[in-house]
Amino acid sequence: MKFNTKAIHGGQHYEAHTGAVMPPVFQTSTFAQKSPGVLINGYEYSRGANPTRTALEDALASIENGARGLAFSSGLAATDCVMKLLKPNDEVIAMDDLYGGTYRMFTRIYQDMGIKFHFVDMNDLDKFQSLINENTKLVWIETPTNPLMKIADIEAIGKITKANNILFAVDNTFATPYLQRPIDMGADIVMHSATKYLGGHSDVIAGALIIKDAELGEKMHFLQFATGATLGPQDSYLVLRGIKTLHIRVQRHCENGQKVAEYLENHPKVKTVYYPGLKNHPFHDVAKRQMQGGFGGMVSFTFESGAKADSIKFLENLKVFTLAESLGGVESLANHPALMTHASIPEAKRKEIGISDDLVRLSVGIEDIEDLIADIEQALK
Ligand SMILES: *Cc1c(COP(=O)(O)O)cnc(C)c1O
Repeated sequence: MKFNTKAIHGGQHYEAHTGAVMPPVFQTSTFAQKSPGVLINGYEYSRGANPTRTALEDALASIENGARGLAFSSGLAATDCVMKLLKPNDEVIAMDDLYGGTYRMFTRIYQDMGIKFHFVDMNDLDKFQSLINENTKLVWIETPTNPLMKIADIEAIGKITKANNILFAVDNTFATPYLQRPIDMGADIVMHSATKYLGGHSDVIAGALIIKDAELGEKMHFLQFATGATLGPQDSYLVLRGIKTLHIRVQRHCENGQKVAEYLENHPKVKTVYYPGLKNHPFHDVAKRQMQGGFGGMVSFTFESGAKADSIKFLENLKVFTLAESLGGVESLANHPALMTHASIPEAKRKEIGISDDLVRLSVGIEDIEDLIADIEQALK
């Protein structure tokens, strides 16, 4: 099956008893047994498995080409489950431009538990390789990154992790499997904040892991079951519903994102536009090779004046874009990373990686492009 068909049918079948085309929301905590320990249909207790969640997990595995999908109560719960594979003295090499909450989890929780983190520019493969030693157990990247849209070469990193027997996890939230499938390029684990494009309607907090290898998938299911951050049936239904239109939504996000980036690039008040679909993006060629069909709906930019006050004024003036954290929904959102999503990263560290105080991040939605551009234009004025 090709991707668009998989988004709708992958891993799915009608419900056995009634023929319901969409899986019912199995709003139940427990399942009747025939005799002690003899289950009716494999289901026992919803922390372990629930049929609505199973339908979502099978869809996730299908669209990311993995052996196993797991649905979590948030994206960070999914990341947390990966971290639970590690032990004290293990080392992690992570990209230096990560989702703020991921960075916070790594440095404020797992560092204190004896895990060592190296944050590195993943475009410097020599530097990356020089950090590998026998304790290196996990490489964690995002591409494109949040909020600077840096690109990492998944295939090149995957070759190195494979040669060194290191687990390789990719946060694929920004690209979505419609544009980019990391497992096909050498990743072992794909993570999603399903809150974003997979759900797609800003109405649910959810996370996902897709694991390439069935055996590792089973181990991670055990970790999820044993620690409990599973996704409820209602929210599983919402994410599954979102996935069915993922391909057409992301197509429009890409079209609108490209046009907004090009508009901003030519605006006299704008200094730098961060969007992998622009020819002058430093890793446009890598992005073009590993993202198929577009470059996503996330666009960041700074002001010619460099003034924080200008970025705040711009955000206050927007009318169609809503000033809010999060991204990936049908509606356009705008965010000030230094004051909002990335405020938990210390100021010095933000400066070091390039998150300036006049940086604005847009999640370009699927409204009419004329209305989006007009809104940006009036707010810049
Ligand atoms: C939102 C986000 C997360 C965290 O997901 P939650 O669902 O908010 O827990 C992780 N990575 C990226 C890239 C995100 O945008």
